[in-house]
Amino acid sequence: MFNHAENDPDDTLAPAYGSRSLSEPIPKYRLPEGDMPARLAYQLIHDELALDGNPALNLATFVTTWMEPEAEKLIAETLNVNSIDQDEYPQTTEIQNRCVSIIADLFHADDAEHAMGTATVGSSEAIHLAGLAMKWRWKAAREAAGQPTDKPNLVMSETVQVCWEKFVRYFEVEPRFVPITPERTVIDPELAVSLVDENTIGVVGILGSTYTGEFEDIKGLSDALDALQERTGLDVPLHVDGASGAFVAPFTQPDLLWDFRLPRVKSINTSGHKYGLVYPGVGWALWRDKSQLPEDLIFHTNYLGGDQPTFDLNFSRGASQIVAQYYNFLRMGRAGYTDVMQRLSATADYLAALVDESPHVTLMSKPNALPLVCARVNDDEPFTAYDISAKMKERGWIVPAYTLAKDADHVSVLRVVVREGMSRDMADLLVADFHRVTAELGALPPEQASPVGHQPHKRAKVC
Ligand SMILES: *Cc1c(COP(=O)(O)O)cnc(C)c1O
Repeated sequence: MFNHAENDPDDTLAPAYGSRSLSEPIPKYRLPEGDMPARLAYQLIHDELALDGNPALNLATFVTTWMEPEAEKLIAETLNVNSIDQDEYPQTTEIQNRCVSIIADLFHADDAEHAMGTATVGSSEAIHLAGLAMKWRWKAAREAAGQPTDKPNLVMSETVQVCWEKFVRYFEVEPRFVPITPERTVIDPELAVSLVDENTIGVVGILGSTYTGEFEDIKGLSDALDALQERTGLDVPLHVDGASGAFVAPFTQPDLLWDFRLPRVKSINTSGHKYGLVYPGVGWALWRDKSQLPEDLIFHTNYLGGDQPTFDLNFSRGASQIVAQYYNFLRMGRAGYTDVMQRLSATADYLAALVDESPHVTLMSKPNALPLVCARVNDDEPFTAYDISAKMKERGWIVPAYTLAKDADHVSVLRVVVREGMSRDMADLLVADFHRVTAELGALPPEQASPVGHQPHKRAKVC
């Protein structure tokens, strides 16, 4: 029998699926002994990745899955640029600095042109940096006062994203979680402040809960902390986790007070790759002014004869997403972002109204929040959110199900994030499938119900 692979050891002439490389097992866990043609390696990996979900149908994530071709072109053109090489790529550094200023201005920093901030890989890195800055400042003040510095704590809602739990564990800070209830799924400012003491490095407010999309009451937290200072002298900084909402609120609710307009807000993080509308991974950390960023944490490198301060956890990182962020700013401007955010919110409201018609679920997401729909399955249903999620998957929809935080862990919810790419038409298709699936599950005899459901509470890996 004619064997391309034997005649042609490099497989170069064989049709892709007629070659040995694609019809014999490949070693998966050690480096293959030989090489293989580029097009076959490509085909192998390309085919394997087809098993992944379709990003456009991934309604689980806040992270961008669609960008314009011109943005993709710039990304491809800068894939080989390391953003840390500031001497070699001064314009890339300049573009990053411009992005910091643009975002600082969007968040109403006083001196946006000389804003204190940096690009990060995502909000997680930004949160680690902001958390470190709070810890360092607290420590310096305690040392100056001759007080012990061995028991720092951080006050936050128990619905914080998992990266805050990483921060407190990696950097040895005691977490003080403010409990939620099924009725109040955001932080209670008074309850939060009741957990504050002289060892509190900061309080976190979430602009856009990962779980329900609600905006926590940042103004309320700020007022409560101001009152605390008046009462006790304790001056505790407020950090805003705006991973999602910091790119939404400025366009949908420009008058909402959540940012540097509140003197109590000392730092903000946001994810460029969420509603900044850039592919993963870019995030941003911003500080109100120089005094919030302890000098000890900043490393100075020489940049074109000038000083380029750096504050990051990683050294090398790709520059593409930073360039793509700048593309979005330039391309869309305030008008473009406003259009997109308002349309996404309108689609989310439309979707919410359709979901609300279902007798099986209760809407949990609220208007004037992130553009998402979050609903809990009613207690008397014979199925759970996990059952719906599994059934929706059969049609390709990726709709995550999870339980709320520890104090509301009997509540299982479904969440659909509305991003660019979700048209009205898609929303209609999604809801039609949702109604069909819940009707099917509702008609099951009780002993067959919940075939895949009922999971114990664990921190949902939602993003
Ligand atoms: C997504 C998210 C994070 C983590 O952000 P990454 O950019 O994925 O690192 C932190 N906080 C909130 C509220 C989030 O939604």
